[in-house]
Amino acid sequence: MTTTFTSPIEPTTSSPAEGSPLSTAHSQLAAAVDILGYDEGLHRMLATPRREIHVAVPLRRDDGEINLFHGFRVQHNFSRGPGKGGLRYHPGVDIDEVRALAMWMTWKCGVVDLPYGGAKGGVAIDPRDFSRSELERVTRRYTSEIMPMIGPDTDIMAPDMGTDDQTMAWVMDTYSVNRGFTIPAVVTGKPLAVGGSLGRGTATSAGLVHVTTAALTEAGEKLEDVSVAIQGFGKVGSHAAAIFADRGARVVAVSDQYGGVRNDDGLHMTRLLEHVAATGSVVGFDDSDPVSNTELLALPVDVLVPAAIEGVLDEHTAGHVRARYVVEGANGPTTAAGDVLLAKNGVTVVPDVLANAGGVVVSYFEWVQANQTYWWTEQEIADKLEHRMVSAYADVSGLARRQDVSLRDAALVIGVKRVAEAHQIRGLYP
Ligand code: NAD
Repeated sequence: MTTTFTSPIEPTTSSPAEGSPLSTAHSQLAAAVDILGYDEGLHRMLATPRREIHVAVPLRRDDGEINLFHGFRVQHNFSRGPGKGGLRYHPGVDIDEVRALAMWMTWKCGVVDLPYGGAKGGVAIDPRDFSRSELERVTRRYTSEIMPMIGPDTDIMAPDMGTDDQTMAWVMDTYSVNRGFTIPAVVTGKPLAVGGSLGRGTATSAGLVHVTTAALTEAGEKLEDVSVAIQGFGKVGSHAAAIFADRGARVVAVSDQYGGVRNDDGLHMTRLLEHVAATGSVVGFDDSDPVSNTELLALPVDVLVPAAIEGVLDEHTAGHVRARYVVEGANGPTTAAGDVLLAKNGVTVVPDVLANAGGVVVSYFEWVQANQTYWWTEQEIADKLEHRMVSAYADVSGLARRQDVSLRDAALVIGVKRVAEAHQIRGLYP
């Protein structure tokens, strides 16, 4: 059946800026739709968020001054289940970025076959500029503003850039107090003391190392023989560095927003983590040389892991990448133009919707445990995570080989197809 749209309303920004996260997300979807042979109506349905909200978030500062921030929640798709996606605190957050991140969540949940749609939220704030009690007030106000849209069966939040397990505890408490009883399943990535899951804190990074290992194994290589550079040393990057080092890889460079450090013999991970805990940055770590974020992307390593922000591998930087593998810890680190250059230079890109899906996989486990009020052991979670990541990698890699397409196109085809099938089987109401 052919679907056509006759409405003149343009539901998403008609032409997001070239290289922006939304334009990257749109061109990735277009490539998958092209391979799948879907018509324009279905394409537009898949490209368009189901619901969006833009809220004002006023904050009374500790000194009594009032500040106002913009907050967003975008629910991209519900065809396979409730919306699922992180909450980001970053000054660059805007509606188009949140739309892109929500869309990627939909495909990601499809790739690893979770019964979720995709959603994402954000507040345009730099959390480093605010006290803990100010961040608590921002979180509680944002949560109450978007309250009609979220819930354990409708849209479930998790941490993302600039937020953490404490943020999730405040969201859960605000939601629960307003509903009159405790509802742990409204968020994932919360502290263990309020129903969090063992293994959630390191899940994204553990999943990333599983798919990196699977890609290397497929090529007859071993993790113990490779060097790794990681951009971003937050929740994803720092745990990935620690797990890579623990499994025998040589982590030769890491960076954060303040700069980077490099040691070609391998950075001493325990001491580096102590340095970051003491100073708040990797910069200044002894036994290393400084390296800029741009230089890090061009280091002659085996594996490059962008684990910070979107769009860092673009038409200016991607051509300089000397890594053989780019494993995307961040969401959307490679623009469409960057992808073309990486492919031209023979770099294998393990795409974000697969490489960083470990976080949402264990979020799903946390949600299942909260709904059952029955808790699994850390080993059970680690085993189930590994199984799901390795089998998702095998599905994606198998399809890429059979259809002679990139791992990104194959992952998008799998994720998009699962969503489109659910949409078509459910039919269009009314
Ligand atoms: P985080 O806030 O814990 O850490 C972000 C890190 O990136 C910090 O080290 C920060 O200094 C660094 N950074 C920020 N701007 C930078 C810049 N311009 N250049 C270099 N470094 C910069 O965030 P996180 O949770 O680790 O998320 C990182 C990325 O991974 C994001 O794209 C996020 O969407 C994605 N991701 C996170 C999860 C998760 O479970 N936390 C899951 C999937 C994907």
